[in-house]
Amino acid sequence: MLAIDKQELLEQQWHSLPEDKICYLLNTDLENGLSNEEVVQRQAEYGLNQLTAKKGKPAWLKFILQFNQPLLIILLSAGAIKAILGEWVNAGVIWGVTTTNAIISFVQESKAEGAIAALASAVKTEASVIRNGKKLRISSEELVPGDIVLLTSGDKVPADLRLLKIRDLQIDESALTGESVAVEKDISEILLQPETPLAERDNMAYAGGFVTFGQGTGVVIATGNNTETGKISQLLDQRVHLTTPLTRKFNQFSQNWLFFVLFMATLTFAIGLGQRTFNDAVEAAVALIVGAIPEGLPAVITVTLAVGVNRMASRHAIVRKMPAVETLGGATVICSDKTGTLTENQMTVQGILAGGLPYTVSGRGYNPEGKIILNQQPVDLKQNPTLEECLKAGLLCNDSHLEQKNGNWVVVGDPTEGALISAAAKAGMIQQAIDKLYPRLDSIPFESQFQYMATLHKNRTGNVIFIKGSVESILKRCTSALDAEGNATYVNHEVIEQRVNELAKNGLRVLAFAKKLVPPTQESVDHPDIETGLIFIGLQGMIDPPRPEAIAAVHACQGAGIQVKMITGDHITTAQAIARRMGFRKNKKVIAYTGAQLAEMSNSELANAVEEGSVFARVAPEQKLRIVEALQSKGEIVAMTGDGVNDAPALKQADIGIAMGSGTEVAKEASDMILTDDNFASIESAVEEGRSVYKNLLKAICFILPVNGGESMTILISTLLGRELPILSLQILWLNMLNSITMTVPLSFEPKSAGVMKSPPRPVNEPFLTVNRLKRILAISLYNWTLIFGMFEWVRQAPWGSIELARTMAIQALVMGRIFYLLSISQLVPSLIAKFNGSKEKVNGAPALAAGIIVAVILQIIFANSEFINSVFKTAPMNLDQWLICLGVSLPMIAIAAFVNRFDPPN
Ligand code: ADP
Ligand code: MG
Repeated sequence: MLAIDKQELLEQQWHSLPEDKICYLLNTDLENGLSNEEVVQRQAEYGLNQLTAKKGKPAWLKFILQFNQPLLIILLSAGAIKAILGEWVNAGVIWGVTTTNAIISFVQESKAEGAIAALASAVKTEASVIRNGKKLRISSEELVPGDIVLLTSGDKVPADLRLLKIRDLQIDESALTGESVAVEKDISEILLQPETPLAERDNMAYAGGFVTFGQGTGVVIATGNNTETGKISQLLDQRVHLTTPLTRKFNQFSQNWLFFVLFMATLTFAIGLGQRTFNDAVEAAVALIVGAIPEGLPAVITVTLAVGVNRMASRHAIVRKMPAVETLGGATVICSDKTGTLTENQMTVQGILAGGLPYTVSGRGYNPEGKIILNQQPVDLKQNPTLEECLKAGLLCNDSHLEQKNGNWVVVGDPTEGALISAAAKAGMIQQAIDKLYPRLDSIPFESQFQYMATLHKNRTGNVIFIKGSVESILKRCTSALDAEGNATYVNHEVIEQRVNELAKNGLRVLAFAKKLVPPTQESVDHPDIETGLIFIGLQGMIDPPRPEAIAAVHACQGAGIQVKMITGDHITTAQAIARRMGFRKNKKVIAYTGAQLAEMSNSELANAVEEGSVFARVAPEQKLRIVEALQSKGEIVAMTGDGVNDAPALKQADIGIAMGSGTEVAKEASDMILTDDNFASIESAVEEGRSVYKNLLKAICFILPVNGGESMTILISTLLGRELPILSLQILWLNMLNSITMTVPLSFEPKSAGVMKSPPRPVNEPFLTVNRLKRILAISLYNWTLIFGMFEWVRQAPWGSIELARTMAIQALVMGRIFYLLSISQLVPSLIAKFNGSKEKVNGAPALAAGIIVAVILQIIFANSEFINSVFKTAPMNLDQWLICLGVSLPMIAIAAFVNRFDPPN
């Protein structure tokens, strides 16, 4: 229970209260935090720590807004003209179809946006808390007032906190204060004036801020809507909008197209007036409008994008920003982290150097079974004091521990540190026991930019600092070293370098260990304390095997014309060895640069280096931004991975920023996509899906437009020739809506084609209608016109024909031709042929396609042979011979489609 009630809790000026008062009011304790019972009670009272979502527009309004598109407004007006002319059936159908269209778009859009938003919110924010005296990682939603929260760089501040302990803590609070630079927190002045403005309350951290540096501990004073962020704004509208560069280009095109259509409709009307009645002239103009507009296309595009996003999610890539779906397909370079993304992050120590002696270690994984061997003999720690010191340093300078899960040893924390624990265990040293002997007083946690970690321990004889980190960062600080007997001697750089090289050449990650003895009065450690005067203890080299699936993925990317580059904080030789093993730059030398080399280059030198190099080692996170920019200056489309705080600028700058699921909140926030499994192979799958989505969008466009083309040509030419219209506006709507949607939606579900990763990335600025695609659309349109116009004129003049039958048969011929055209661009036929030729690949997508075609055929039978439809749509029943005639004339579509496929391959 809190010492105050809910109202009083809200009214406290926490920044001006002392620590003991705060803990008393919140009934909590800095060391132990809350107990489980307390948490349950408080959760019941204060609810979950989440902002209530901002109420979006009500559904009915969203539905009405669907009509706010030029296309639909024109259709509604066309219906109105029909109504004024007294053609109520006509008007009713046009309005009905328009409304149906709005309903379909509305439903599809809400479904797609909902699904995508759900995916995005499935990525939960976590927080570290102390409860029951133990450090835990929990979902931020579970926080309650009084919880003790630990912050480290990269965290998102999960609730409003009064800070009680900090170390160099800097927080970016721009979301709340508008201040763009991170503020340095300061709790030295314990009591701030109550009226201190929010931005200057240095002893507070507010929800929504990002920790950019350092660490801190604070107590939760407000959660959910009671936080400062919650008070000023409820959850930002987090809906994902379904637009991508392609859809934007397409919308632009549609706008221009509309003007053209209106112009042509006016022309048709004017010409029509000279030849026929006013009503017929209007009908021709309306038919041209509905014929030229691809009514069904927007719904199909929405479905295609949603399908793509879902497919990516099922392959561990969660899209946060819609354009990424498409940009991914065009990526030309992927810059990837090494550790954990290209490699398994399953580390095992295999080689040690201590006191100048080269030890090897047997065993696999984190399992403590194995031996430390010197000269083919298992060692005895008593005779190898420096080895013991080296293993001890690995245990003490360590924030992780090992646990047994289902019989397997797993690491809780950093795999690098897990490896050290397992190595020591192989020599019989137990982490908990050593920890008890040397209680920890203070620590400097590992940060990539420093490349080391240090801990200060109490000892009977005095205090000692243990340091571990990269060889470069440790060695330059050492002034002496331990020899094999544990006595101080000079640092033998030659022996050390040689062992480092031996280990790194085999792809091992090498850590160096050192210590420094300090007086018993020293109770804290900071960077200057370990600037110099360290005693070198030894090295431990650990294997981190490449992920087999990542090797295959690197290979697939290369086949797809995408360069893969490794960017790592690790040693250059280690990185190169792993890159070589993974088949980077097949058959060619793996060119590698270090961050230090890159730092000295001019921008143009850098651009060349990043273009030809494929491994960048000892790169500071800040340099990633420069690398992205350099690649972009060379015209590359760059995908870049990242997980740390300092990766955010590079992730934002990259064309596709990819955050790791295990990474920091800051990185996730800056990214376009999140990999839930941290695996490079998932990037490759996402590229594959991205390419397929783009292809499927183009297929839908190339499938629908020729029908519009054929229809508009028909109206235009028949009007110019003064002939009767071969197809009426209502019939066109039937085709463009019912028929188009049933037959095009299966294209959204098209599986990826076998060749999708075999061709180079699509050119950056490729317009969606390339010359070849335009030629395709024109050619098919022309044939569609021949079918409609030819069939109509022929049946119209046949002794057995009537105008209704002529129109019906014209439309049936068009739909049959369309079925062949659909098959010609789908993935099904080529995969069936491949199957026939003995391919082992599964034939996918057949059911969707078959269903689409069957439904379309049934609808067409109803179209001709239902009396009701006959009367509304002015169609006529057909007999078997007539059906066969329609089929016959549509057959040449096969040849035409095959021809078109040769200059514009659809797959
Ligand atoms: P990467 O993740 O790209 O391999 P990091 O930035 O994590 O690179 O690590 C860079 C270097 O810092 C490593 O090569 C290693 O020498 C050192 N290092 C990594 N993890 C730790 C750690 N937990 N403690 C001390 N040093 C570390
Ligand atoms: Mg790392």
